[in-house]
Amino acid sequence: MMMKGDDIFTAVDIVSAIHTDHDSITRASTDFGHIVEAIPNGVFHPTSPADIAALIWLSISQSKPFTVAPRGQGHSSSGQALASGGIVIDMRSMGRHDHGYRVNMSPNELWVDVGAEQLWIDVLHATLKHGLTPRIWTDYLRITVGGTLSNGGIGGQAFRYGPQTSNVHDLDVVTGMGKMITCSPDKHSDLFFTALGGLGQFGVMTRARIALEHAPKRVLWVRIAYSDVESFTSDQELLISKRSSGSGFDYIEGQVQLNRTLTEGRRSSSFFSASELDQLAKLALRTGSSTIYYTEGAMYYNDDNASSVNQKLQRLLDELSFAPGFTFVRDVSYVEFLDRVGREEQKLRSAGVWDVPHPWLNLFVPRSRILDFDAGVFKGILKDTKPVGLILLYPMNKDRWDDRMTTATPDDDVFYAVGLLRSAVAAGDLERLERENAAVLDFCDQESVGCKQYLPHHASQDGWRRHFGEKWDRIATLKRKYDPLAILSPGQGIFPAAA
Ligand code: FAD
Repeated sequence: MMMKGDDIFTAVDIVSAIHTDHDSITRASTDFGHIVEAIPNGVFHPTSPADIAALIWLSISQSKPFTVAPRGQGHSSSGQALASGGIVIDMRSMGRHDHGYRVNMSPNELWVDVGAEQLWIDVLHATLKHGLTPRIWTDYLRITVGGTLSNGGIGGQAFRYGPQTSNVHDLDVVTGMGKMITCSPDKHSDLFFTALGGLGQFGVMTRARIALEHAPKRVLWVRIAYSDVESFTSDQELLISKRSSGSGFDYIEGQVQLNRTLTEGRRSSSFFSASELDQLAKLALRTGSSTIYYTEGAMYYNDDNASSVNQKLQRLLDELSFAPGFTFVRDVSYVEFLDRVGREEQKLRSAGVWDVPHPWLNLFVPRSRILDFDAGVFKGILKDTKPVGLILLYPMNKDRWDDRMTTATPDDDVFYAVGLLRSAVAAGDLERLERENAAVLDFCDQESVGCKQYLPHHASQDGWRRHFGEKWDRIATLKRKYDPLAILSPGQGIFPAAA
């Protein structure tokens, strides 16, 4: 490596911020999935975007550049934030140094500037101090802004506002050439659109400006159960069509309870009591259904509409076709509602089943094939599977997504998020769950279901080409423009690093 003058000091500073101790390397060698292991040469602790630019510059100035993976919380499942033989950037260290808490609000203009290393739970608490809130949330909030914006960031508000990536005004990005660029739909727009959902391939996001709305104080958190998939899906699609009328839910998700989940699964959850779960099991028995579905809705309210929210909920429920009597309602604070998976995490941690392998498979399934998917997967491949986790199923409106962004979505105007969020807790679980996931993917291929993986993982570049479809050529062109040596986020396995 050739360096002159001030560059030498930069390189020395950068190298001194790379941790190579056993604990740092071990932590950065795996992720939430606990399936893939990839050992980096070091873990870089930046204090500013300029540090990240200097690290990247150091890499590309070598005759053989090293790979660089920004890591938020490392809550990916398939090694996406790992860098075998490269350098992992511990993004969280950006918030620990002199910049401290990098969340800056403009309450009048309804946006917040956040460091990409910030956890969504911290963004929530900071914005609530001003009575404001981001509009769309992932189910779990202890993940970073940069991590979710690299994928999409979906949740029960996406039917109305689109994914988190559709709610960003502008971004600061350090490219794979070490350039710091502020981009937006009007400025360096190709970088803006490609970085959002870009799986860390085009640059390291260091700041995002995120749209806000006025925060509600309280939430009616509702679950309604179904024993037949047709009523469930037609109600879900009716509910997501009510996105601007003011008469619907503010959040819509759903879950699938397979046969054995009801009889052998957990005896209570953070929502259902043991007796309510018994009721659901009886519904399955009575109707002879191997599968129970429930829609999860949330209706926000404040002091000024507290007296009318129950009537509004009743009017909405009157339009739906769930199993009579199977309505479950909780009245909780907005924070309690949004942080519900945080409470679940505490329970799973105390039971010793949080840090276990998570062979998660997330799919977007087109509306036109959801009944085929249900028959082939929930009532076919997974019919008698052992209950070890959660299955999510809820629809979103495609017109709330911006197709210029990198995330791949199906063609239909409505598609379902299907999350097979299962944990391997006992011997043999991991292999079995991986076999089942492979069978689900095979089924989708053979039946030409037209689904796309979300939080995708593909073993070959051919798989990635098919995943991105028509977007592939543009993605490859922008990769050459913004990360020509392919040093960024190698754990995604999309582009081989230049030799
Ligand atoms: P990491 O795993 O650290 O990184 C993910 C990818 O992004 C890597 O390729 C990494 O290199 C890249 N990256 C990280 N930071 C940056 C950056 N600043 N700039 C550029 N690239 C970067 N997702 C949803 O959409 N909706 C949900 O409801 C949801 N629920 C979840 C619940 C749980 C319990 C868990 C564990 C995950 C959930 N996820 C959900 C998935 C989650 O959004 C992704 O796994 C996300 O990537 C995690 O963020 P992270 O900070 O851990 O990212």
